[in-house]
Amino acid sequence: MKRVYLDAATSMPTMEAVVKEMLPYMTENYGNPSSIHEMGRFPRDGMERSRKEVADLISAKPEEIIFTSGATESINLALRGTLPFAKERKKIMISKICHRSVRATATALKTSGHDLEFLPIDKFGMIDVERSSGIIDNGTSIVSIPFASNEVGTLQPVREISRISKDAGALLHIDLTMSAFQVPFDVTDVDVDLATISSPDLMGPKGMGALYVRNGTRITSLLQGGGQERGLRSGSENVPGMVGMGAAARIAKERMEETSQGLIDLRDHLINGLTEIPHSNLNGHPTERLPNNANVRFEFVEGESMLLMLDMNGVSIATGSACAQKTLEASKTLLAMGLKHEEAHGSLMFTLGPYNTMSDVNHVTGIMAEIVDELRSMSPTFNKE
Ligand code: PMP
Repeated sequence: MKRVYLDAATSMPTMEAVVKEMLPYMTENYGNPSSIHEMGRFPRDGMERSRKEVADLISAKPEEIIFTSGATESINLALRGTLPFAKERKKIMISKICHRSVRATATALKTSGHDLEFLPIDKFGMIDVERSSGIIDNGTSIVSIPFASNEVGTLQPVREISRISKDAGALLHIDLTMSAFQVPFDVTDVDVDLATISSPDLMGPKGMGALYVRNGTRITSLLQGGGQERGLRSGSENVPGMVGMGAAARIAKERMEETSQGLIDLRDHLINGLTEIPHSNLNGHPTERLPNNANVRFEFVEGESMLLMLDMNGVSIATGSACAQKTLEASKTLLAMGLKHEEAHGSLMFTLGPYNTMSDVNHVTGIMAEIVDELRSMSPTFNKE
């Protein structure tokens, strides 16, 4: 059976070229980068080269990159680490399109005396700039937004939210987890204090991430220990992971234009094929969206049934955010966009990687039409007339 993997948002393979670059840092250059002796020098050099490669991806300075264990840790560090300096500013602003790691961190902070408010979004899952400008004010400590929704793929008006946040004197954190591999982002162009980058989402090793901390941003560590990473992330460094993330960032930057164009071609073909199925509609913005994301709702059918039937036919996809799948709750993003519960439950997320082909896309659109037909023929809510 042909297997097609269209779930890049949940996991992507580590590039072979990346693994190759990592290996010597496991077997030969295994010294501790903090060691003064010769064996510390190679890992230290590898670590600093990688820091520069990650920094280059977003045009940052190397010293502004703090390596972490992944996006979730970076987000926690960004939010928890800066709030002790917020003083009388008590309001944290996030959005209903953020990843659960942002929402959960912000919700936990609420219990320690901070207020939590949500930026309004429109029917495309895009933050509403006009209405946001009224609520980001001088009581706001930090605004956290994703550059792209991890579920519906809608790209966010980061420049406008940056301007509003800076006018209000609030810090701005942007979650680049889903976009860094496919959409350029430049910290010298968009005024941002903190930005999260994830290694696996760059086709680098898992268990690695980074937080961009703009020079001058007041932030404290979540961990006490040896004071590595400018005191912001104690613990002996994962040098192979850093080298892998650096290599992935370098390759992602070199290939970004080609990668995005390839993904856009596949995505548009996929969206066209899927929305040809009667009673199906695209979720998210029609044009301002991640190159690799197609999120489609199919009326009168249920997401989990479609997912399982696709799986039986060798196709791997997701119903929404990986976390929401575990609880089988309707996606908060889709509900916030104004979809009804049954529409949210009938939505599927197809996310492409550079390893996918037109033949994969044709295979999936063909199978999808058959599956939807079959499920609708059994559906009590589908009027066969
Ligand atoms: N932010 C976004 C936008 C995500 O999509 C994810 C999940 N890939 C995360 C944060 C958390 O990433 P991780 O589970 O790798 O820490």
